[in-house]
Amino acid sequence: MDFRLSDDLLALQDTARRFAAREIAPHVAEDEKNHRFRPEILAKMAELGFFGCVIPEEHGGNGMGWLASVVVTEEIARVSASWGLPFNMQTVGPGTTILRYGTEEQKKKYLPGLVDAKVLGCFAITEPNSGSDVVSMKTTAKKDGDHFVINGSKTWISNAQVADVGLVYAVTDREAKHRGLTCFLVPLKETKGVTSRAIETKLGLHCSPTGELFFEDARVPASSILGKEGDGFKICMSMLDNTRVSCAARAVGVARACFEEAKKYALDRTQFGKRIAEFQMIQADLAHMYVEHEAARFLVWRAASQKDKDPRARNTLEVSMAKYYAAETAVNAANAAMKIFGSYGYSTEYPVERLYRDAKSFQIVEGTSNIQKMIIATNVLDLK
Ligand SMILES: Cc1cc2nc3c(=O)[nH]c(=O)nc-3n(C[C@H](O)[C@H](O)[C@H](O)COP(=O)(O)OP(=O)(O)OC[C@H]3O[C@@H](n4cnc5c(N)ncnc54)[C@H](O)[C@@H]3O)c2cc1C
Repeated sequence: MDFRLSDDLLALQDTARRFAAREIAPHVAEDEKNHRFRPEILAKMAELGFFGCVIPEEHGGNGMGWLASVVVTEEIARVSASWGLPFNMQTVGPGTTILRYGTEEQKKKYLPGLVDAKVLGCFAITEPNSGSDVVSMKTTAKKDGDHFVINGSKTWISNAQVADVGLVYAVTDREAKHRGLTCFLVPLKETKGVTSRAIETKLGLHCSPTGELFFEDARVPASSILGKEGDGFKICMSMLDNTRVSCAARAVGVARACFEEAKKYALDRTQFGKRIAEFQMIQADLAHMYVEHEAARFLVWRAASQKDKDPRARNTLEVSMAKYYAAETAVNAANAAMKIFGSYGYSTEYPVERLYRDAKSFQIVEGTSNIQKMIIATNVLDLK
């Protein structure tokens, strides 16, 4: 077992780090304040091949792999959690799911565009009354000749108001429960009966668009089904096994930013005639932050490396462990950073309050921390 990155990955990490410092860091505070999503940043990330890591060359990617993808994601999220999200909206979510379940035609139509970000993606599972309990969703898709007619609404959808294509999950057979969900590839802007509305009340992640999607008699051809009718739940869970790894990498990036900001501040701030970094209680907090974020990173790297060995094998347990631990680590780190910054942590003039707000998202998105603990327990308890 070798925990060092290869020279290629170190070079990619350096590229991502320099990109984030140059293109994102100078604007992030102002953009977060103004809830500004900059398409030009997305285009530049695509140009550098960031979204191509998890997609093979034959479909427009660079095939550098999952470990490459999480290494880049951590570097971007360290500077902005908002800008860590597009990895999941482009290729880690829609892209890898189309790659696995799509027809050749669907792959050709969508994958190159998702990689180069000329096509913006999203995935729509959550509804006003259906979050963790995915099977309870109300959105329906009724067969009508060689089309399906979608009715219902989705909420808390990242990219809802900007996405060109969405993986939309809907009920095609209520009686069949888990086997009654179907995943549709919906060209959101071109489909009559699809509208969106921005959610402007988010606590953080202000550079990442989030919104609602409404479907009113939205007709899509049967050829837009991803996989087979009734495969939706299986496809959704397989997709979440991918997006959770990237989400965990984002959380590590935020936890690392908390540590780095807190370390800098503790070495600078003096009280009682000493730098506060010299006080044992501050040192204990910083030591804890350091160990937790490094441990979280290794869980993420393990889950990503497993996917590199066999991208089709499900590694749900290791993915949920990484997602759960990294999310809790980010929140712990943000909490500790706030404490170390004292009143300046409470000020919008310092980055810690943003890290604190953004960190909370990791305990909710892609399945809450409780849901990850349920998955982990189900896998390790042998309760059958
Ligand atoms: C910024 C942001 C971006 C998002 N992006 C997307 C997106 O792109 N696409 C999408 O589909 N969704 C998205 N979501 C929605 C997100 O996936 C859901 O919020 C999440 O799955 C939880 O659902 P919920 O909020 O309805 O909570 P609920 O499911 O109502 O849960 C409420 C609480 O009850 C707990 N709980 C629920 N069931 C159990 C149980 N069985 N045992 C123990 N505790 C339980 C939960 O852990 C939670 O603490 C996003 C959310 C946010 C905040």
